[in-house]
Amino acid sequence: MGTTLARIAGRARVSAGLVAHYFGDKESLLDAAFRSLARRVGDQVRTRMRNIDSPRGRIQAIIDANLAPEEFDRRTGTAWLAFWGQVLQVPSLRRVQSVYQRRTLTNLTNSLKKLLPPEEAHSLAAMIAAMIDGVWLRAALSGWREADSASARALLTEFVDRRLNTRLASPPDDDDAPRDLATLIAGTAIESAAVESTAIESAAIESAAVESTAVESTAIEGTATGGTATGGTAVGGTAGPQRFASINPATGAVLGYVSVAGPAEIDAAVRAEEHGQARWAAMTGAERARVLRQAAQILRSRNRELAELETRDTGKPIQETLVVDVVSGADCFEYFAGLAQSLSGEHIDLGGHAFGYTRREPLGVVAGIGAWNYPLQIACWKAAPALACGNAMIFKPAEITPFSAVELEQILLEAGVPAGVFQVVQGFADTGRLLTRHPDIRKISLTGEVGTGKAVMRDAASTLKHVTLELGGKSPLIVFDDAKLDNAVAGALLGNFYSSGQVCSNAARVFVHASVKTAFLERLVKRVSAMRIGDPMDPQTHVGPLVSEQHMQKVLGYISRGRAEGARAVVGGQRVTDGALAKGFFVAPTVFDECRDDMSIVREEIFGPVMSLLTFNDEEEVIERANATEFGLSAGVFTHDLTRAHRVIARLQAGTCWINHYNITPIELPFGGVKMSGLGRENGRAALEHYTQLKSVYVALGDVDAPY
Ligand code: NDP
Repeated sequence: MGTTLARIAGRARVSAGLVAHYFGDKESLLDAAFRSLARRVGDQVRTRMRNIDSPRGRIQAIIDANLAPEEFDRRTGTAWLAFWGQVLQVPSLRRVQSVYQRRTLTNLTNSLKKLLPPEEAHSLAAMIAAMIDGVWLRAALSGWREADSASARALLTEFVDRRLNTRLASPPDDDDAPRDLATLIAGTAIESAAVESTAIESAAIESAAVESTAVESTAIEGTATGGTATGGTAVGGTAGPQRFASINPATGAVLGYVSVAGPAEIDAAVRAEEHGQARWAAMTGAERARVLRQAAQILRSRNRELAELETRDTGKPIQETLVVDVVSGADCFEYFAGLAQSLSGEHIDLGGHAFGYTRREPLGVVAGIGAWNYPLQIACWKAAPALACGNAMIFKPAEITPFSAVELEQILLEAGVPAGVFQVVQGFADTGRLLTRHPDIRKISLTGEVGTGKAVMRDAASTLKHVTLELGGKSPLIVFDDAKLDNAVAGALLGNFYSSGQVCSNAARVFVHASVKTAFLERLVKRVSAMRIGDPMDPQTHVGPLVSEQHMQKVLGYISRGRAEGARAVVGGQRVTDGALAKGFFVAPTVFDECRDDMSIVREEIFGPVMSLLTFNDEEEVIERANATEFGLSAGVFTHDLTRAHRVIARLQAGTCWINHYNITPIELPFGGVKMSGLGRENGRAALEHYTQLKSVYVALGDVDAPY
């Protein structure tokens, strides 16, 4: 062990071996120490800002947290100084520093934009951030004689007040044009605060933007050759020649612009991952577990802001994203952290002369490609098992929902995942294809449509990659005559209208026994009619918009076809354009009665809030009809007869089934489809099989007898 580390261990009065084991070298120790310091300041900023509504108060909170007495403490100050001294020499420290400084800048800019036009907000934010760094550095270099925490804060406070008082004497100009993020050095990735002026956007934007530095910093750093953590991630950056706008589906407003990763960026990302993966895989399972648990904790601590970000990007109601999207991602990291520690092979007894064993090894660099309905959850469901097993992952979110995956990248870095182990690249199908065809990527895990799954599998075949495919469905829910009807109705609602019906496992075909059909329908219609459609940021809203205008048109097209084919919409059946909702892509939750198995609304995946009701008379008949589809993702049964429940479930062709419930996906249970709904499984221990490969080892215990 190097003498520096030994000295550090001595000073900390801990075992030198322990320090070497956990940190390896001095740079890793500094890296870990700085992440911890930066996280502490970040937490302080968040805590202080949480209860403050006024922009000026939030600016003060940032100043107070950054110049708090703890940061002027001699011991802490020495650690900060050691860090700043190394930043220019050590790339990993430079990345942490960049995230840390951009976060401060973004927080300041977002608050200032409530008071000043954007350009002035950016420039004043840059001045305040520079003064915070400057006053602290001078104080530290003077051995804390030149200023203490109180005088430093007073200096900044006076400066900000003076600047704002002068400026606020004349009102700011209106500026609501969408901003090109590539041109904004100090801006946030999600320029929504400046872009969106409608009431529907509410104050949530501000708090979500607080942590959105991730996007901006990746954009700045994400050049093809920079050797950065991101190797080409580019939301709002300048890496690719092509860019696209991301839209808030509730308002139609532009949330930000995103750069597309091309061949050079993908190649650079793969090279960075190869380096990162070697480092990550060399850590013990217990070490990886600790980092993944930390990621889970950060996700939980940022639940609200991430939920708000996800709601703005997808249109899913905040009452869902607050309790599902981020939380289930955190659960996933926690669960796979546990499994990382217990990854093991087998011992195989081969008699007295030999034994064998297997090693469960990572695949190497793998890629995840996500759909738009659960952007963060999908990223977590792929990243957590991949990383737990020692792989590195490049992740491409759907182009419609680019933001939350970038936050995840930053969270993983903050948690201690080495640079180049999880990177986000942005773009359309072409970017996805660059991943599926890349010779040095060992596996693709896709969540998407059946057609995309086939294309991905075809492309992956050229380099014989492993594939996991989580694809579409048209799942059946069977309600027998002995079912508790209120529960069955609740199951049908959960199975059709969550996330405005944009859920792959939805029970879009609800088979109800003819003898209870009238009672079922009556209760169903009553509850659907009471659902609240509206601003997804409103906690009372049950149904938000569909994810895009194009998707809304597709769903409305199916509704028209349903009517034309003879089905009767007993509730819903139209776009909703009341008041501010006219700007968004809202479709009323719709129930079609009088459906037949051959109708297109019954056969094809609509991926919207459209339920088809069908009736049946006996068990054999309903099983046959339920299975008469190319899909096989999920299925559900409501009955009080346990024998029948298990008998029917055993015969349904589906990867994930529920008895007396619907659409519950605990992380412990494997999830995936059969038939055209997919290959492989996510979640549960089963996911480990898909992110590792077995190596068999024969160990001879005697002499070698050759016949030659
Ligand atoms: P898509 O299949 O359109 O897209 C999925 C992802 O694949 C996107 O990131 C897309 O890029 C990318 N992609 C598209 N074509 C290719 C290609 N040829 N090579 C590589 N990547 C490609 O699905 P949606 O995003 O529209 O999501 C909805 C679908 O996902 C539904 O069918 C739904 O059932 C399914 N789904 C399945 C789940 C499951 O677990 N089984 C869960 C959630 C959804 P981009 O769109 O950015 O251009």
